[in-house]
Amino acid sequence: MVRSLAQWTKTLSFPSRISPNKISRENVNTVNPTISSNSLYPSCLKHNNEISNIMSDSNILIKDVNQIYSDQDSEKSIMRSVVYCIHHKEGCKWSDELRKLKAHLNTCKHDTKPCSSNCGAQIPRVLMEDHLKYTCLHRRAKCEFCTKDFTGESLESHIGHCGYEPIYCENKCGLKIQRRVLSQHKSSDCFKRLVACRYCKKDFVADTMATHHVKCGRVPVVCPNRCEITDLIREDMELHLKDQCTISLLNCSFKEAGCRFKGPRYLMDKHLEENSSQHLSLVCTLVTKQQHQIASLKSALSHLSLNYSGTLIWKVGDFAAKMSEAKTKEGMELVSPPFYTSQYGYKLQASLFPNGNGAGENSHISIYIKILPGEYDALLRWPFAHSVSFTLFDQSTCPEKACNIMESFIPDPTWKNFQRPSIEPDSLGFGFPRFVSHEMMKKRNFIKDDTVFIRVRVDPSKIVAV
Ligand SMILES: [Zn+2]
Ligand SMILES: [Zn+2]
Ligand SMILES: [Zn+2]
Ligand SMILES: [Zn+2]
Ligand SMILES: [Zn+2]
Ligand SMILES: [Zn+2]
Ligand SMILES: [Zn+2]
Repeated sequence: MVRSLAQWTKTLSFPSRISPNKISRENVNTVNPTISSNSLYPSCLKHNNEISNIMSDSNILIKDVNQIYSDQDSEKSIMRSVVYCIHHKEGCKWSDELRKLKAHLNTCKHDTKPCSSNCGAQIPRVLMEDHLKYTCLHRRAKCEFCTKDFTGESLESHIGHCGYEPIYCENKCGLKIQRRVLSQHKSSDCFKRLVACRYCKKDFVADTMATHHVKCGRVPVVCPNRCEITDLIREDMELHLKDQCTISLLNCSFKEAGCRFKGPRYLMDKHLEENSSQHLSLVCTLVTKQQHQIASLKSALSHLSLNYSGTLIWKVGDFAAKMSEAKTKEGMELVSPPFYTSQYGYKLQASLFPNGNGAGENSHISIYIKILPGEYDALLRWPFAHSVSFTLFDQSTCPEKACNIMESFIPDPTWKNFQRPSIEPDSLGFGFPRFVSHEMMKKRNFIKDDTVFIRVRVDPSKIVAV
């Protein structure tokens, strides 16, 4: 912005700060440069054009200054004031009287002048050579890539579009390719371009395709057995060998039963046909073996769930049905799960005749205890001498009013039933043929929900001295 003279004269305030009478030529050098430059060239007067304009119109300046300072000497002494070059901040060290400034600016290397090639730019003298060479819009220049001639202006629009300029491939393959052939490179040569696998049709980076083909499931493969199949692909191979390939060696389907035949699939039907009776007998042997296994597992399981407490609570459900069956079927006996008197004790089992037995037949339920062959019999004292009690529970909802029926006995050591049992289970027991009458069974809550509960307890403390 170029200020008007009026503005300029107002901005300057030199008379009061630097009195020309007081500043002698000798002490010029001692004038504080800050005061000197600030006073005479405030920041608003940086452009040399302003000063040039003012200086070239010195008549007006003088006239104006005269209007303010009537003293002619004042003006002269102002012009003799020592100042810095207006380009002091850019590095010009010149400092002299104000009147010599204009002449200095004509040669000051920091002062601007119009470009000598008439591009219109204002360029400091010191930068003119560079400007003409590198940035002037009117310079003549060659494109370094296509070597064509351009003016500076057209080169600027050419740069960034020159077809011969090598630029980095956008696929990040690391190559620099001339712009004119880049798209061809990206679509057909670049090893980082995406390519569809010709077998599975999925896209892969070109340089990983070889690795992909090693595992691609759709790649055609040859059956290792060289069978007649020709259109096999990798992902179907496992299934082919297992279920389809006629040459695959197979085990006979009766392998588990013991057949050791192994042969190609196409021979298998013949083998099965010719060996059906052998296979059948193998299967029978297997079934027998498995039955034994099942039996031993069952016994292991029942062993795990055995009761070693000496007390059995025996739940007899569907009692009405069992009772009516007993009435039509003579000697029908229900037996309880076996139980032990202690962990290494006697093995016992209760038996119940719903329609009675012996003296209680047709009128009472009878209950007995049997001694079964147990695992620790060899170490136990014989005959068995613990007292045994049987309790029929009254299942009243009010436990205080319940009235159970209990019978107990102490074994007679002379009875053969209490000697050590033989390995074959003994059907004989000992107990009460007239335990509870059928009349009594109907009373109270001995039968509830068609179920009766009987407790059999062996008291190990009550041992009869032999
Ligand atoms: Zn200068
Ligand atoms: Zn220029
Ligand atoms: Zn070019
Ligand atoms: Zn590339
Ligand atoms: Zn593939
Ligand atoms: Zn095959
Ligand atoms: Zn076989």
